[in-house]
Amino acid sequence: ALKVAIVGLPNVGKSTLFNALTKTAAAQAANYPFCTIEPNTGDVAVPESRLDVLAEIAGSKEIIPSRITFVDIAGLVRGASKGEGLGNQFLANIRDCDAVAFVARCFVDDDITHVENRIDPISDLEIIETELMLADLESLEKRYANVEKRAKTGDKDMQVTLRLINVALEKLRAGKPARTAEISKEDQKGWAMLQLLTSLPALYVSNVDEGSADKGNELSDLVAKRAAADNAKAVVISAKIDSELAVLDAAEQAEFLEGLGLEEPGLNRLIREAYALLGLQSYFTVGPKEARAWTIHIGDTAPQAAGVIHTDFEKGFIRAETIAYEDYVAFKGEAKAREAGKLRAEGKAYVVKDGDVMNFLFN
Ligand code: GDP
Repeated sequence: ALKVAIVGLPNVGKSTLFNALTKTAAAQAANYPFCTIEPNTGDVAVPESRLDVLAEIAGSKEIIPSRITFVDIAGLVRGASKGEGLGNQFLANIRDCDAVAFVARCFVDDDITHVENRIDPISDLEIIETELMLADLESLEKRYANVEKRAKTGDKDMQVTLRLINVALEKLRAGKPARTAEISKEDQKGWAMLQLLTSLPALYVSNVDEGSADKGNELSDLVAKRAAADNAKAVVISAKIDSELAVLDAAEQAEFLEGLGLEEPGLNRLIREAYALLGLQSYFTVGPKEARAWTIHIGDTAPQAAGVIHTDFEKGFIRAETIAYEDYVAFKGEAKAREAGKLRAEGKAYVVKDGDVMNFLFN
């Protein structure tokens, strides 16, 4: 499953956010550093209102959304790459993930201790990013001599690896995360194989006070600017509001949100941003039994999309019947969309679009 690591200094609101995400009290939020020791893992549904619309039209009995996994990584502090705090073990847990969400404290509350005794989300981000960069530097420098030796013997793969290591080192030594390097399409695979913490796609999450939940505040504006410079994405949430929302039923949620002038829980945006960050999109299968979202990479072809359901679908792929989401809705279902000529037969080369309603024919 696709995993997103939640990182940040102590007391920025990671556990609060994680609890809201998973609606459990398992990761107890508390007002002191190092509260959460075990990396906590939670599976969440990707909010997708289109799926509800499709299910309604088709009278589907069950709705099955896509899922994404969040891992709450606690204990990162200044010096983590040197094993300070609970450092090193946590860095290993990040290496296991597909993307990183950096939580920055953008709320002011004198009752809540800040490990560095100040509210400064940019330095908070820098402290964490620096630890990740140091860890990357160390791992690359460790490998360098060996890769260089093998590259010299004429090993083509190692020559590519060496070149990419040098690209990464140049960025890291300049104090920049590896994700700021421009990597060609052909090099993507080798780049990913370096397994750098700072080349993972990054999302900067500004945790703001309740009053700033809709538009953010001056601090979250700074974070957004910084995200652009670091080739990261940014999102504003109020972990506190979201943790309160998480325990309400749908009707109560709607009322609460309206009272605050919010359109939807911040978490929905966060989850969707994380999904987009990973280069993912959804297609749907719809029937009387279930309406289901399937996760694919942007650019996947019809056989690859079929393979997500079952490898046999990919191997024996003949063709796909496709209705665009808008057409499915406009014509109120498959039958009328077909009559209107909106059901297309697509072959192996078809690149699936976000929201396609698919039906696969296979051997
Ligand atoms: P973590 O160490 O990053 O996991 O931080 P926690 O989630 O445990 O939060 C630390 C403390 O800050 C807890 O007492 C939370 O209730 C509080 N907190 C989290 N988010 C907010 C917020 O948006 N506003 C305020 N005032 N307090 C918050």
